[in-house]
Parts: sequence; structure tokens; C-alpha cells
Amino acid sequence: MSMLRFKVVKEAFDRKAIPVEIPKERPEAYYGKYVFNRQKMFEYLPKDTYDALVHAIDHKESISREVADSVAAGMMRWALDNGVRHYTHWFHPLTDGTAEKHDAFIEHDGKGGVIEKFNGKLLVQQEPDASSFPNGGIRNTFEARGYSAWDISSPAFILDKTLCIPTIFISYTGESLDYKTPLLRALNAVDKAATDVARYFDPKVEHVNSYLGWEQEYFLVDEALYNARPDLVLTGRTLMGHESAKNQQLEDHYFGAIPSRVEAFMLDLEIECHKLGIPAKTRHNEVAPNQFELAPVFEETNLANDHNLLLMSLISEVARRHNFRVLLHEKPFAGVNGSGKHNNWSLGTDRGVLLFAPGKTPLQNLQFITFVANAMAAVHRHNALLKASIASATNAHRLGANEAPPAIISIFTGSQLAEIFSQLEKSTAAELLNIAGKSGISLGVAQIPEIMLDNTDRNRTSPFAFTGNRFEFRAVGSSANCASAMIALNAAVAEQLVEFKTKVDARVAKGEDLNHAILEEVRALIIESKAIHFDGNGYSDEWKAEAARRGLDCETCPPKIFDAYLKPSSVKMFTETGVFSEVELEARNEVKWEVYTKKIQIEARVLGDLAINHVIPVATRYQSILIDNLVKLKSLLPEGRCAEVLEQDLTTIEKISRHMTIIKEEVDKMVKARKEANRIENEREKAIAYHDNVLPCMETIRYHIDKLELMVDNEMWPLPKYRELLFAR
Ligand code: ADP
Ligand code: MG
Repeated sequence: MSMLRFKVVKEAFDRKAIPVEIPKERPEAYYGKYVFNRQKMFEYLPKDTYDALVHAIDHKESISREVADSVAAGMMRWALDNGVRHYTHWFHPLTDGTAEKHDAFIEHDGKGGVIEKFNGKLLVQQEPDASSFPNGGIRNTFEARGYSAWDISSPAFILDKTLCIPTIFISYTGESLDYKTPLLRALNAVDKAATDVARYFDPKVEHVNSYLGWEQEYFLVDEALYNARPDLVLTGRTLMGHESAKNQQLEDHYFGAIPSRVEAFMLDLEIECHKLGIPAKTRHNEVAPNQFELAPVFEETNLANDHNLLLMSLISEVARRHNFRVLLHEKPFAGVNGSGKHNNWSLGTDRGVLLFAPGKTPLQNLQFITFVANAMAAVHRHNALLKASIASATNAHRLGANEAPPAIISIFTGSQLAEIFSQLEKSTAAELLNIAGKSGISLGVAQIPEIMLDNTDRNRTSPFAFTGNRFEFRAVGSSANCASAMIALNAAVAEQLVEFKTKVDARVAKGEDLNHAILEEVRALIIESKAIHFDGNGYSDEWKAEAARRGLDCETCPPKIFDAYLKPSSVKMFTETGVFSEVELEARNEVKWEVYTKKIQIEARVLGDLAINHVIPVATRYQSILIDNLVKLKSLLPEGRCAEVLEQDLTTIEKISRHMTIIKEEVDKMVKARKEANRIENEREKAIAYHDNVLPCMETIRYHIDKLELMVDNEMWPLPKYRELLFAR
């Protein structure tokens, strides 16, 4: 066997679990140890500062400069007490992941020494010279500088001995350059719009929160094997590799016993999560070999998203301690399941009511139906946009490829909700109210709570499913920043609720009964957005045809999917909700196209290199061994007797030749396609050229490399194979 491969495979399969020390205290004692939460605030801040800060957080207000100074002083004291010497504004640029620039807590003291210093100004606003982050031209057009500003709704935390302060990142002219700014705007919009509608049912509601519970899927690969795969190191996925004879056919991995090495890693990770206030709760094996999932208890969306981003950096670090590498890529291995990040999403009032959960009284159920119907209508109207919000070069390998979910957004409701909807559709509001008689509205749905409880028919093929008291947006990719999906969804629902309220109010103004007006408008929504409702098999070809007939967006090319952000309906929705200006939308699309191009560009280069300097040399060597053998055989065996043997060997040699020839030709073609694409100035056109002309070459190259992998002597093959990558644990 290739010496390196032999060595790393042995190393990986021999590896033992690394024991994890479980803290002696109970989780409640160390939970949030590294978070400047209310308990720490109370301990480290003067009483009036504490009160002012908590009031501002709870009422979504800002704080004064004096309060900021006082908070900064307390925060620094807490950090220093924890052995921390640096702080950073932690933000979410338009790349994957997070950004930080560390500063020490020191200033000259004027006497040749230093003093520890951190004040409100440094806490609240910074100007990182972060001009290299993607900005889609905004900062060339407007102002080169950008600044970060403290998001008081997400608590500061300590990571790796650095105090991290969650911040937004915007240009000097106010355009957002990150994910957090528009997310906060969208959450604000949906808060306002949903509160107005929720007040129809409970006038005491003051705020509506959006909640997010993400489920992070990932793969683990032993680090020795990972290091021997340049494609994994540089692109996060395998660009070649023949399917393992056994992969997930037996479904023996899903929910199976967690391997001990992995369990130690998970335990370690969970403890770290809990110290950072991430409520990690569920862990299990996923469908593909070496694929796993972690899910926390859901939280308010902004915080939940910060926690997901934090988790994505934490998980890589903890994995290294256990000699694993984490793959967050959506499709690290062909032929087995890819990784998603289901976004469980709901809205709830500050009075503790979940708005997508059926209630106990007819009025509560009317509220439930109202919010569900509005959410569905928003998803229907903006189905193309929602798809754009989760589309990427990496997620494209899941969506629309031969795997869940399809590149068409539809909603699964389950049979009970479907039944209620069809009842509502058939009967007029007057009829529904009549049936109810004196007791008010019945909707014939007073029994909703019992039915919903055993809402077990979960359809795994649906990209967007109603699951009892929430919606589950399943199309989100495992490496994505959930904010992208959450911005589009919450903003779209905000727009829809505003429109709904306007219509209901207009009816009431004309003297119509409120409940009657609500029912009529809900009915209209259900009828209007029927096309989005689909409970069947999302993988089937019939569905693709049917979806097209229904007018749902069926585009599969990511650079074209991104166009949805610039559709008039999207621009109107985003500007009216105050989430994005048109300039921001245009700039962001430039970034999306650019990132798409770069991802494929890198993959194409890596694949070209591997094909030419890893695969072809080995295949050539093996081929010459075969030729050698053939020549010797020929000289040994008498004429005539050996024709059949020689014929067979010759065929093998020819096959290898053919695969090598095609690989070389396709690599040339790919390089040419890349050069041509690179000359295109328009980012959108360039990305489309990469999609149309570069990607197909990559697929062909891979196909022929994988064929060679099966033919070439196993001992010579240089790269760890799928059966090794997927089964060492
Ligand atoms: P499954 O894999 O069956 O979908 P999990 O238990 O793995 O379910 O994950 C469900 C996720 O949904 C968890 O993060 C959970 O906290 C979250 N969740 C539950 N209820 C809500 C809700 N009302 N709003 C948002 N998220 C929720
Ligand atoms: Mg789920």
C-alpha cells in the first residue's frame, strides 16, 4: 500500500478514545461560567447600572454613555478575574463563520508603564480595519471604513481567554456588512407586526419573540486520514473517492450506539457548550456513517444564532483534542447523506404563548390558525427568496441533487392541519361562527390540541414542515449562517402580518365583527397559498412537474436562484420591513455570486492538481506494470495459447488508458473554462459560467478517477478511500 496511506489508515483505526474529565459540580453550577449573564452582571455592576442595562435589554432600548462606561468597567473586572487579558468585538461578516480582532486591556500610564483600560466607548463601538471582508462594493462606493457596534441583546462571553463582545458590523453610511444587523432588523419587524396581530387575541401582549432551535449535523474524520486528503483540507469535501461497498444501506448507523471515541468527544463538547451558555441537549448518530448531530434547546433567534456560530468554531477545536476533524460541509462524501441544519422556528408572545401551537379554547385556536396561515402565505409568496436564502455552492450538492430536500420550497402540514385547512376553505366564516352558536367560534377545531399531540407523520422529504408547535426549515445547509434563512423568513412573515392586519382592520372599520373578519381573511390566505402545501414525496419527479405547474420556483442553478433577492416583490418586502435597502440587496448579491465563483474555483484547482499529480502518475505506474507483465507473458507463452489471456490484459490496459486520456482532456477543458470565466467582469455571469462550464468538467473528471480507483492496485492508491474515511472511529 502506498506508504503514507498505509501509515495513516493504521493510525486512524488504532486510535483509542481520549477520556474526558467530567466536572465534579452539577451542570447548573458551571452552566454559563464563561458568559457575562445577568448573574455576573448583578455581581460585577453597580445596582443602577445593572437595572439600566437589564431594562434596556428587556425593552429593546439603547443605553447611555455613562451606563456603557460602567458596564465596561464591570465587564473588564469579570474578564480579568477569569485570567483574560484581551477583548474583541465579535461579528459575523459575509463569509462563513465569525471574525475577531483582539486588543489587550492596556494603555500607557504616562509613567513608562501600562494600566488596564476598557471603557464604554471601546465597548460600544470599534473601527476594525476590516476592509478585506466581502462587501459587494458598498465600501468602495461610499466610505472605506466600517465599524462594529455592541449588540446588548446577546451577552459577552469568554472564548480562549478572550472577552468576546457580540457586535453588528456596518459601514459608516449605515449599510450592513454582516448577518447580524439585518437579522436584528427582521426580528424587530416581526416583533412589531406579530404583536399587532396577537393583540386581537390578547390585548396585553407587548412583544413577540422569534425562536430558533437548530439541529447541527456534521461528519467526523480521523485527523490522520483528513491530513492525507488535500481536498478535505482545502475544500471541506472529497472531490473524488469511489463509494464504499458498504455505506448506509443497512441504516445501522442512524440512532445506533455512539462509538466510544465519538462519545468522549461529544461529552467534552457539551461541557464546553454548557460553560458558554449554549444549552446543548440532544446528540445522536445520523444516517451516514461517521455522521452525527447536536441540538440545543431552542432560544430567542438572535441568541440561538450566535450560539450556533460559536458552536461551529468550538466544535472544530474540541474535535482536534480528540484527533478528529469536523466536516461542516453540506456534502463531504458522494453517495451518502449530506448534512443540513434544520431550523426549528416559531413565534411566541411575552405572555408565554407559542403562536403556532394549538390552544385549549376556540379563540386560542383561531389565533393558532391565523398565525399558521400567515406564515404559510409568506412562504408561498416568497418561496423563491427563501430558497435563495439557503442556496450556496456547497448546499447545492444537497438540494436538487439526488437527496433531500428538493430545490423547491413547499410546506408539509400533516394530515390533521390539512383537514382543518380544507374545512376552513369549504365553509364560510358565517357558517363557522354559526355552528359555534353562543359559545363563540368553534371552527370545528376545538379538538385541535389532542390531534396535534400525535402529529407523528413526519415527512422527511419536505424542506419546510409544520411539526406541532413550530415550523422546521430543513433546507438550511450545515455550514450556513442560520441568519440568512432567519432574515428572509421573519421579514417575509412580518410583511404578511402587516398586510393581514390592514385587511382585517378595514373590515372591522366597516362594521364587521372582528372574529368574522379574521376568519374571512384567514380563509382567503389559505385559498391563495394552497400551491405551497404539499405532503407527498418531495424527491419524486412527479413533484417537480407538479410544482412547476403550481408556479413554485424550480430553478436549480445557485447563481440564478440568488436573483430572487432582487425581484420587485423581494425589494418591496425588504425595504418596507426596513431589513435591507436596495443598495444592500445589490451589494449582497455581488458577494453571493463572488463567493460562489471562488468556492468552485478553488475546488476546480484542487481537483486539477490531484488528478494530474496524484492520480495520473499512479495509474501510469500501475499501467506500466501491467504492460511489463503482458510483454513477459507474451515472450513466455507459445503463440496461440495465450491469445485469450493477452486479450484480457490488453483490455484492462486500454481501459486505464482511456480513463487517463479523458481525465487529462477534461482537466485541460476545465482549466480553459476557468480562464474564460475569469475574464467575465459581471459577477453574476461569471458565477453562471462556473456553474455551466466548470462544474460539469469536475463531475466527469471525478467519474473517471473513481473508476481508476477500482482498477489500480490498492497498495499503490495514494489517497485514503471512502471505506477508510467513513469507518475509522
Ligand atoms: P427532531 O430531530 O425530531 O426534529 P430534535 O429534538 O432533534 O427534533 O430537535 C428539535 C429542535 O427544535 C430542538 O432544538 C428544540 O429545542 C427545538 N424546538 C422545540 N420546540 C420549538 C419551538 N416552539 N420553537 C423553536 N424551536 C423549537
Ligand atoms: Mg428536526
